[in-house]
Amino acid sequence: MAENHIDTSTGKADGLDKCPKCGSTEISLRPATGMLICHFCRHEWAESAIEAQFGLDSAIGDLRGTTIASGAGSLQESAEDVLTLKCQACGADVVVNTQEALQSRCHWCRQTLSINTQQPNGAVPDGLLPFSITRDNAIARIDQFVKSRRFFAHPKFVKEFAPTEVVGVYMPYLLLDANTHLDLTGFGEVQTRRYTRKRGDDEVTLYDADVYQVARSFDLHIDDVMLESSAHRADIDWSRNTNNIINTIQPFDVKAAVAYNANYLRGFTAEKRDLDVSALGGEAHNRLLSIGRQRATETAGKYDRGVRWETEHLTLKGTRWVAISVPVWLYSYFDGKLTHFVAVNGRTGETMGSVPIRYGRLITVSVIIGIVGTVVGGFLDFFTG
Ligand SMILES: [Zn+2]
Ligand SMILES: [Zn+2]
Repeated sequence: MAENHIDTSTGKADGLDKCPKCGSTEISLRPATGMLICHFCRHEWAESAIEAQFGLDSAIGDLRGTTIASGAGSLQESAEDVLTLKCQACGADVVVNTQEALQSRCHWCRQTLSINTQQPNGAVPDGLLPFSITRDNAIARIDQFVKSRRFFAHPKFVKEFAPTEVVGVYMPYLLLDANTHLDLTGFGEVQTRRYTRKRGDDEVTLYDADVYQVARSFDLHIDDVMLESSAHRADIDWSRNTNNIINTIQPFDVKAAVAYNANYLRGFTAEKRDLDVSALGGEAHNRLLSIGRQRATETAGKYDRGVRWETEHLTLKGTRWVAISVPVWLYSYFDGKLTHFVAVNGRTGETMGSVPIRYGRLITVSVIIGIVGTVVGGFLDFFTG
């Protein structure tokens, strides 16, 4: 398939990323407003929405082949983590390790230098969602989350709990738009009669149904499927721990993503993308097919006993891939065996996580619930029997 590219670089070279009003490089995100603020002249502004700026909102039905924004491009193994920036103020060479930060200060003139171009090492996305939940707000939510689970939580965890150690992290995702065609075939059942029969001492309910061959063939335009693009995170064994916490605090309002500017990251950490479009093809196929199957089933409501799809085929007419980073406040705690996390969506405040459990209390409570359950069950038997 043809591959098209969209350049989402903002035209800014690596190096000084200045305040548009006064030229200072003392800039950071103010989560209370979601805006960048210049610490010298107090000017506040936001980068423009990436969808409009780079035409990422053009009709999905017009997509053909594979369209990849520059921040979502192929990762190159040879790409260096360590980059050298030339300070445009004094000419000094400053080394930045993109594993750790995308900004650094010039050690001679103290100017802040930023990496603005999309590296083939996955460090710089096309766009991001700035934090709009403040650190204090996140700490209060994590505190509340743990307090409401205090009774079951392990005493050592309660004692060592220190929500002020929360870290703001930008997590990498690939955002997928897809122009698809779906063909599904299977069988649907419509109930024609329902009745009871004696079988020994029991009464059983039976039904008659007409069985139809069902087929659906349709175009489907799918917008903004979010795919995790960090293998490290996929490697965390969430099943031993709890379900994938970052997924449970979704959704993120990705339509509000703004063009990348390294100043949004100051004071936060950012996880690097290390999976690209080719690595995520299988996962993308499964997610799109699952959305398509759901839509097909929605159109088959008249089969009141359901539809069983036997063949499913997804044709990709066109896709568009954009790399974005989303904001998460993260509190982690290692209990000696597992790392537990409490995560707060940096846009909505949605909070989820796990705390180490004090098993004694959990068992006691379930035994009590078991006894109550038996008593209630006994009453029901009495009334229905
Ligand atoms: Zn300024
Ligand atoms: Zn300098």
